[in-house]
Amino acid sequence: MNTNFFCLQLDPAVLGNLDSLGYQQMTPIQAEGLPHVLAGSDLIARAKTGSGKTVAFGLGLLNRLDRQRFAVQALVLCPTRELADQVARELRRLARASANTKIVTLCGGTPLGPQVGSLEHGAHVVVGTPGRVLKHLQKGTLTLESVRTVVLDEADRMLDMGFYDDMEVILSATPSQRQTLFFSATYPAIIRELSRAFQRVPVEVSVESQH
Ligand code: ADP
Ligand code: MG
Repeated sequence: MNTNFFCLQLDPAVLGNLDSLGYQQMTPIQAEGLPHVLAGSDLIARAKTGSGKTVAFGLGLLNRLDRQRFAVQALVLCPTRELADQVARELRRLARASANTKIVTLCGGTPLGPQVGSLEHGAHVVVGTPGRVLKHLQKGTLTLESVRTVVLDEADRMLDMGFYDDMEVILSATPSQRQTLFFSATYPAIIRELSRAFQRVPVEVSVESQH
């Protein structure tokens, strides 16, 4: 398995930015997952916490953005506000290589008004928790019809927390020809159920804990 980021079809500016972030080699889940993510496949990826899953989906979704178009093209759902903030921070670091990427976080526990304002200014990527994303959808302040990539990050935890129905409604509001990526630390049967409903012949990659 080639673990050099240079073996991926990425813009030289993106590769340079990875180097400046100190990311020299891909972690195992990145080496196994990124080629599929960049190829546009649906994916179920399982690897323990701290194994670099954010980069494994982040480089893929950022690579697919049309930055001239101010429409939400990628959606990342996370179980908690803290995790959503972490993911947004990492995506912003990864996006430094490409000018003008707008990433908006939508989480509960903060007022809706400023979030609506950020959405009105145009967002390429939304990172949020299912409850708050659903709220914006229902209010009509968020549309997902231009979404090309959906990531369920920590899908197992979101299912544990009872977000199945919310995720179902949110996924149903996105185009059916989207790329759908599931990332999680464990692989409960309910993930397979969600996958059957929302993915098309997903590639499955699983990295054991030697990382
Ligand atoms: P996970 O989502 O699997 O829990 P994260 O995406 O949060 O893991 O990444 C864990 C840490 O590893 C972060 O601090 C991130 O910056 C770092 N990291 C990710 N990819 C690499 C890499 N290729 N080389 C070095 N550090 C990395
Ligand atoms: Mg993570």
